[in-house]
Amino acid sequence: MDLTRLSAYELADALDKREVSAVEVTQAHLDRMTAVDPKVHAFLHRTDAAALAQATSVDERRASGAALSRLAGVPIAVKDNLAMRGEPTTCGSRILEGWRPPYDATVVARLRARDLVIVGKTNMDEFAMGSSTEHSAYGQTRNPWDLDRIPGGSGGGSAAAVASFQAPLAIGSDTGGSIRQPAAVTGTVGVKPTYGGVSRYGLVALASSLDQVGPVARSVLDTALLHEAIAGHDPRDSTSINAPVPDVVGAATRADVRGLRIGIVTQLSGDGYQAGVSQRFAEALEHLQHLGAEIVEVSCPSFEYALGAYYLILPSEASSNLARFDGMRFGLRAGDNGDNSVEQVMSLTREAGFGAEVKRRIILGTYALSSGYYDAYYGQAQKVRTLIVRDFAAAFEQVDVLVSPTAPTTAFRLGEKLDDPIAMYLNDVATIPVNLAGIGSMSLPAGLAPEDGLPVGFQIMAPPMADDRLYLVGAALEAALRDQWGHLLIEEAPAL
Ligand code: GLN
Repeated sequence: MDLTRLSAYELADALDKREVSAVEVTQAHLDRMTAVDPKVHAFLHRTDAAALAQATSVDERRASGAALSRLAGVPIAVKDNLAMRGEPTTCGSRILEGWRPPYDATVVARLRARDLVIVGKTNMDEFAMGSSTEHSAYGQTRNPWDLDRIPGGSGGGSAAAVASFQAPLAIGSDTGGSIRQPAAVTGTVGVKPTYGGVSRYGLVALASSLDQVGPVARSVLDTALLHEAIAGHDPRDSTSINAPVPDVVGAATRADVRGLRIGIVTQLSGDGYQAGVSQRFAEALEHLQHLGAEIVEVSCPSFEYALGAYYLILPSEASSNLARFDGMRFGLRAGDNGDNSVEQVMSLTREAGFGAEVKRRIILGTYALSSGYYDAYYGQAQKVRTLIVRDFAAAFEQVDVLVSPTAPTTAFRLGEKLDDPIAMYLNDVATIPVNLAGIGSMSLPAGLAPEDGLPVGFQIMAPPMADDRLYLVGAALEAALRDQWGHLLIEEAPAL
């Protein structure tokens, strides 16, 4: 039995029954990393020794009859923008090279407390800015379905690690789509929880009002199990919601859409979407209808301005958040030769440490926030944000969930959009409204596009704090698609 082919649920079951040990499960995944990651480059850093030590401890405690959490002994990969005590945390940037955080992010602490086995830190676009992982300062990640294509971004490393069976589970972060779009283009499942549903403490901030940590896996149930393990109130995050976590695992198990009203967002389909993406989206809707859901169309007119508003709000917040990387506190310091002033050292450090996309957004955000332009840009964008929140609220008066394709196209080729920032930004046209409104959303595979044989993502959006509905609908659709596309989950991704 190849342990890397099992789901987290199956692994947890086999571990519980003592059919396998956590050390065997961990070693199998570390071996898989050694075999395939030279091609994929999903990982920036491996934590073999710590992982095997944790697995050994799980096995010992299980043998002594101790009560263990459900996912104890299951391997997981963590995006490199989450602080992990004593391990490199680079955010894909040179400016953080050599920095080892003295503390764990709350999500990392929860994974450890539940005895998941962290096998490494995954590659990402620098400071989570991008849709292809090509903006990493440490080299691109490749899509396991086709090594000449992008794995999505910014969380391409987490998605590619899961898609190439290097880990059954991964953690991502989603500011404008960085969990969902990589999931879509790699044939995996990714969820951006409701804003405040999962702690941001120890997540290196990109745009604080948009950022949310969430789960990545190969099945809806696995995603729910991980969601449940990381969610819940954290007094260290002032925006964390102090309310019970929605029953995501129960919903993933029920998988029932009878009587649900599902709304197609008019503005998030049609023109500009690849034919095969639209085709698989339409087929998925037919399945949901056969399962007893009612499908209606809903218009959200302000979504037309979502991308424009996002690319003012995100750079504004990012320019403020990234001001802390000044060469004094973390990682890289350049030009500290005794002659240069403090300002010169800061400037030389940022010049050497930040890549082009990060500089572009800092300049844009600083401009949008400057006096005289604030009202015209940042202020206007915030008004648009309010309109988008209202569009969602009005839509959810009519329907239980909204749906769209996750991304307009399947995975594009490496290099194809690297020199065209607007073309890169347009990948997130369908995922960004969700972040602006703070609601929860899932991407799950809807099959392969006929024209290129690459995975297509189906997006589900639910009202705030109703993340369980994502799993109810996602699991039902996944089950309906299993006969036709279930082999996606167990066969070798064709490129490896
Ligand atoms: N691709 C989007 C961006 O570049 C989303 C990033 C994210 O979600 N972290 O901003």
